[in-house]
Amino acid sequence: MGVKENLDDIRERIAKACHRSGRSPDSVALAAVSKFHSRDEILEALQAGHVLFAENRAQEIVDKFPDILAHHAGAAVHFIGSLQRNKVKIILPLVSCIQSVDRREILAEIGKEAAALQKTMPILFELHTGEDSKAGFAGEQSLFEAIDLLSEYPYLRCSGLMTMAPFTREEKPIRDSFRKAIAVRDECVKRYPSLDFSCISMGMTNDFEIAIEEGSTLLRIGTAIFGERA
Ligand SMILES: *Cc1c(COP(=O)(O)O)cnc(C)c1O
Repeated sequence: MGVKENLDDIRERIAKACHRSGRSPDSVALAAVSKFHSRDEILEALQAGHVLFAENRAQEIVDKFPDILAHHAGAAVHFIGSLQRNKVKIILPLVSCIQSVDRREILAEIGKEAAALQKTMPILFELHTGEDSKAGFAGEQSLFEAIDLLSEYPYLRCSGLMTMAPFTREEKPIRDSFRKAIAVRDECVKRYPSLDFSCISMGMTNDFEIAIEEGSTLLRIGTAIFGERA
């Protein structure tokens, strides 16, 4: 199947999962994770009407996206990977959200560079909820310490949380991971009533239907759209 057929199929599965959980399909956005895939494959998705992408390496954004963003109205790319401080400056002009803010130093760096560019940058805080790698804030304490720094960086716009479930076929650890993210989001809403936590980025190829049932508002799907990565 081609990218267009895959996108149609995913859209249908999203709609069904939304229906099962009493949600509107409009309440769940989809970022097509194009890492390791070519510019041509991204163009196929654009031709099928899909405009939101996500990448986990700075270099791939720099290699593939300047041209795409310049020529396709509405096209956008989010950063979802582990970000090094020295790469912040090169991706900031290109990305429309950094979903993987996972430590205070990177928050500070993004805040500083966004101010230098005078570009308001939406960010998500990445929360570690049980995924095998250790990415993300380990708990509420370290997360709150980072959120408290936001007032120093007027060009950062908090939009919510991102998390990754453990890679397993078992449903329970996946569901637990997503539920933990939602519980922390609810705490954030109480603790920071003036900030926006409406975006919950969770759900990938293997677990996106569970993520929708648990309240995801933004899916990050790669393999099911573009096929296996080389
Ligand atoms: C690669 C990646 C995805 C997409 O994974 P698939 O299983 O291919 O859908 C989602 N989120 C992050 C952070 C990733 O690195």
